Amino acid sequence: MATVLTGGTVITAVDCYQADVRIDGEKIVAIGQHVHQAGDQRIDAGGCFLFPGGIDPHTHFDLPVGETATADDFTSGTKAAAVGGTTTIIDFATQNKGESLAQALTNWHEKADGKSYVDYGFHLAVSDLNESVLEEMATVIQRAGVTSLKLYMAYKNILQVDDSTLLQVLQLSRKAGLLVCVHCENGDAIDVLVKEARDKGYVEPKYHAFTRPIIVEREATYRAICLAEIAGAPLYVVHVSSAAALQAIEEARSRGVAIYGETCPQYLLLDESCYDAEGFSAAKYVMSPPLRPCANQAALWTGLKNGALSTVGSDHCSFNLVGQKDLGRSDFSKIPNGGPGVENRFGLLYTQGVGGGKISLNQFVAIASTNAAKLFGLFPGKGTIAVGSDADIVIWDPTVHSVISARTQMQKVDYNLYEGTQQIGKPRHVFLRGRNIVTDGFLNDDAPAGCYLVRKPYSAGGEYQCSGLI
Ligand SMILES: [Zn+2]
Repeated sequence: MATVLTGGTVITAVDCYQADVRIDGEKIVAIGQHVHQAGDQRIDAGGCFLFPGGIDPHTHFDLPVGETATADDFTSGTKAAAVGGTTTIIDFATQNKGESLAQALTNWHEKADGKSYVDYGFHLAVSDLNESVLEEMATVIQRAGVTSLKLYMAYKNILQVDDSTLLQVLQLSRKAGLLVCVHCENGDAIDVLVKEARDKGYVEPKYHAFTRPIIVEREATYRAICLAEIAGAPLYVVHVSSAAALQAIEEARSRGVAIYGETCPQYLLLDESCYDAEGFSAAKYVMSPPLRPCANQAALWTGLKNGALSTVGSDHCSFNLVGQKDLGRSDFSKIPNGGPGVENRFGLLYTQGVGGGKISLNQFVAIASTNAAKLFGLFPGKGTIAVGSDADIVIWDPTVHSVISARTQMQKVDYNLYEGTQQIGKPRHVFLRGRNIVTDGFLNDDAPAGCYLVRKPYSAGGEYQCSGLI
């Protein structure tokens, strides 16, 4: 049976108009004023916006870190995504040292397949580069539908790669149609600063931020951009947290270099004063990069508005305060890095961005969905509301107000970074490929319906495709 969503306002990255949307099977088959046919089911979207389902390009589910693993796995993480209005996530399949990329992919399929409530793809996070891994990058992973890589310039002796590795991967990515994502912080400098702090007996959570100052992000961002320019390759800078790093991206873009920036809700909405929290609870905010002085937030919002930043990812990487974060109770450098956010990314961006008058509805859709679909080889199947696209649609009721709290969240972690924050608007329904998976905040189905997404190479659209980013 086909379904018609009636009376809503369709919002894409470029348009805003009232129309009914007819869904048949997994696809949108008609958009217009009189699209229903005899026997169609009708769902009232009166007074609501119809947004393309959110795309979160940055999650870490079921990720082993040191002696522990992230609190959310694919089951809880994607349930949280769905109720929040996100219908696609791209997670980081992370290579262990000595492992092939094919093995890393197999590991991540085992974690995700049959457990995901939203559609999912993988970036490959590379930690150990050798000749055979370079060969895999050129062929194997693209055949598996993976068209982006992640490299870390931080986490010395664990994930950090040197400049020669980064440059070689960028050179190869250009030929192979891959988009390289980079975590930009100078891991060597951080290592020295952390040792100094510990030697002085500075062990509280706030020293995490003091030992990762903005300049280590700015330097690494600039260096990564230079290496991308040498290679003639595009680059995606993950979790931009500071005005200084953003400035490096803006300068490169003004020279016509294909550099794309992502920021996260935590850098838009929280600031370094969180580290003054009582006792050990400041550990909730231990993430990398750390939260910054408040003035950076306005710069990041401006970057989203003027297109210098393309996406907002959650960087969902959750650890319980009790039992996980407290591994670092007597040493800040042992606190697992990261925080939750996949459930709240979409709603917070709407509330603070659209509700706060900082971005338009079209910009909201571009940042929350469309641009990630374009950059990561999913457009136009994902990321828009158009005939022929997957029926991933959020019926968003802007009149509902709610309060974010760990007590009511689907994320399986013992805190929420935005506890007590008011959210404007909520999904009345969420559709995943035509299936109504969420109604009024509740999952309709016990069975996970998410599919693995085979993504197109970056070069398929290349510069032409991406020059169309909003
Ligand atoms: Zn991350």
